Amino acid sequence: MARAPFEMAGVQVKPGTRQTIEIPIAKLYTHTPLHIPVEIVHGRRDGPVLMVCGAIHGDEIAGVEIVRRVLTNSALRNLRGTLIAVPIVNIFGFVHRTRYLPDRRDLNRCFPGSERGSLGGRIAYLLRTQIMEHVTHIIDLHTGAIHRFNLPQVRAELKNPETARMAEAFAAPVIIDAGLRDGSLRAYADSLDIPVITYEGGEALRFDDVVIGSGVKGVMRVMRELEMVPPRKGRSTVKKRSEIAASSQWVRAEIDGIMRPVAKLGQKVRKGQKLAMVADPFGESETAIVSPCSGIVICVNNLPLVNEGEAIYHIARFDELNEAEKAMDYFRSSFETEVSEAVVPMHPWDELQK
Ligand SMILES: [Zn+2]
Repeated sequence: MARAPFEMAGVQVKPGTRQTIEIPIAKLYTHTPLHIPVEIVHGRRDGPVLMVCGAIHGDEIAGVEIVRRVLTNSALRNLRGTLIAVPIVNIFGFVHRTRYLPDRRDLNRCFPGSERGSLGGRIAYLLRTQIMEHVTHIIDLHTGAIHRFNLPQVRAELKNPETARMAEAFAAPVIIDAGLRDGSLRAYADSLDIPVITYEGGEALRFDDVVIGSGVKGVMRVMRELEMVPPRKGRSTVKKRSEIAASSQWVRAEIDGIMRPVAKLGQKVRKGQKLAMVADPFGESETAIVSPCSGIVICVNNLPLVNEGEAIYHIARFDELNEAEKAMDYFRSSFETEVSEAVVPMHPWDELQK
């Protein structure tokens, strides 16, 4: 029996075809309608329904490029199941180059939302009723906040075995076994038993080749693991590539001032090791910022002007530093052949490569 078409927002997508669907969400003051564009790739054979979404925080634009590159992959011609690509979830924030909605709410804290709630609640409601109720798996793409650069990493609640399988297949250098935050898309999906992982890499409003390349490879690896696309011929599949951190910790500035970073992204650090110096403009009062735990630097603040209490480093906790080392070695080697020398030294972790 032929496979049924995929239906969303009143549009039918036949098996073996792809189509862009515009889901109406709201209007501008001018009454110009706003839509969330969704690309559906509906395979000829039954299989998982994977949603890959970006820019739920409107300024986290790397995910938009990851989705675009995934959609150009020729392996999608033989897709099993259905890919629902949502490059820009927070259209308002994306247009205004901001994380938030016009009412300053964070859309990723508005789930499950409601039909008669705030703007964020209504958009969350539309997303879950129009899109999420169709899906079996989710990859949610994020970056660090503005001026904060994240090492490519996956956050997932690993007690769900299907979530753990996706997280490991993605093969970012680090997986953080992260708890769920109330109101997030990830928490809502988890409450429905939909396996969901969050990819974090790079910073808001910036593109970075390693971060985007790592995201594209990760999405394709998950699709291969779910047997949505065929395995790559002639490639041995190495199963374990990520190291799992049970927790992570933000390190904050103890005084206001001007920061001179010492530790680099991806660097392994020991408890008590100096991460940065913060000083007043004359250097009379100066404080060292030290790591509260051993681990690997997974986020750095690139803006040297800091206020007391500001988060400036994020450390994935590894009591056994060899594990962190292994994760970074694999990550570097996986890009050696594919990212040109001209590109690699541009990155904050280039010093590590020597
Ligand atoms: Zn985000």
